[in-house]
Amino acid sequence: MASSSSDAKAAAIQAEAFPDGTTDFVPLRGKKYDLRKHIADQPITAANWYKHVNWLNTTFIIFVPLVGLISSYWIPMRTPTAIFAVAYYYFAGLGITAGYHRLWAHTSYKAALPLKIFLAAAGAAAVEGSARWWSRDHRAHHRYTDTEKDPYSVRKGLLYSHIGWMVMKQNPKRIGRTDITDLNEDPVVVWQHRHYLKSVITMALIVPTAFCGLMFNDWLGGFVYAGILRIFFIQQATFCVNSLAHWLGDQPFDDRNSPRDHVITAFVTLGEGYHNFHHEFPSDFRNAIEWWQYDPTKWFIWTMKQLGLAYDLKKFPHNEIEKGRLQQLQKKLDQKRSTLDWGIPLENLPVVSWDDFVSESKNGKAWVAIAGVIHDVGNFIADHPGGKGLISAAVGKDATAIFNGGVYDHSNAAHNLLSTMRVGVLRGGCEVEIWKRAQSENKDVATVNDSTGQRIVRAGTQVTRVSQPVATADAA
Ligand SMILES: [Zn+2]
Ligand SMILES: [Zn+2]
Repeated sequence: MASSSSDAKAAAIQAEAFPDGTTDFVPLRGKKYDLRKHIADQPITAANWYKHVNWLNTTFIIFVPLVGLISSYWIPMRTPTAIFAVAYYYFAGLGITAGYHRLWAHTSYKAALPLKIFLAAAGAAAVEGSARWWSRDHRAHHRYTDTEKDPYSVRKGLLYSHIGWMVMKQNPKRIGRTDITDLNEDPVVVWQHRHYLKSVITMALIVPTAFCGLMFNDWLGGFVYAGILRIFFIQQATFCVNSLAHWLGDQPFDDRNSPRDHVITAFVTLGEGYHNFHHEFPSDFRNAIEWWQYDPTKWFIWTMKQLGLAYDLKKFPHNEIEKGRLQQLQKKLDQKRSTLDWGIPLENLPVVSWDDFVSESKNGKAWVAIAGVIHDVGNFIADHPGGKGLISAAVGKDATAIFNGGVYDHSNAAHNLLSTMRVGVLRGGCEVEIWKRAQSENKDVATVNDSTGQRIVRAGTQVTRVSQPVATADAA
């Protein structure tokens, strides 16, 4: 029989062993199709484009809201219905953020049964798929962020990450594997998944329509505003986590991937806008860590904890969060450092003997030796803040002591500027020898390089700065 052979095929696909312990996603609602020859893997043509469209999703995401929008022209919006619609919007939104996302996808806290049922019902009111399906995709999104296996990779475009991935059919085999054993063992999740259509029609349409009808005698307004249009707004808001939160804002914790923090995204998504933090610390029940940041989902979970309905709220240690923030700051500093001219690295400079240094200086080169490093000050003599005379007098000499307080204790800026004039190091030059010895003994901070390979030169640690100047070599 055909069905038993396709059963066998599905079982064969399922039986493939994966070393990471994950398994293929098995549709619980008994849809049988060959995962190996998926329409999404075939090019879109004029003849097959309609097969690429996921018509069920398109109906719920685009056509139904459109009908609601058009019909709102004839249906007046009454104030009590509008207030209820906004409240129901937050209810459904929390179902997604506190339920689907932070409870089921990330297990960032544990919920008592009544809270689970509440969140599963609220989540159904948002019409974004079952908690099981949603969490599985979201786990793949975190595990394979920005790659081909990310179900809503922003690398495929903002529109794709927002809505394209639902409107167009996707090959379920493309999406990265995730472990959802815990969800399959959660009776609330499994029940909601098996009875998804009933749950959605009840929670997303019947409840708001009946509430507005019975309370304010506004059946039609309840259906259009608290039902259809409210669904549209909550869907678009949560889709923004996949699109906007990977596109707009700062990256205070890591910039290797696309997630970003922005207050606008947070306002739109009930606090899910601190997405750079969230991708770094995904099992933290908070998305915003500062008290003044907008994260009503966090406040909701905290309130549930006070009521005894939520427990084991997970938090990353402050120390780890601050380490991440500091490292990212350091990375930005390093990038900035690499754009500046710090002079030729000492080890790349030619070694010049003292006699050559003196004779080159006599033959017209404006060379000055300071701390064993030779500098060509020719282009700077006229600009020297201390006057031409003092700097000209140092040409052809070891000016270490003069530069470091003998005549004038030069500023940090002067040491930095001097480093850009380096042309060589003296053979046997005193300070450079000390520097080389320290480097070989691996104990000199001045030789530390940053992540871009630039030598870190901190204020006061320039090689030309000598705290107790040695006597000038060419005295007299
Ligand atoms: Zn994300
Ligand atoms: Zn997440």
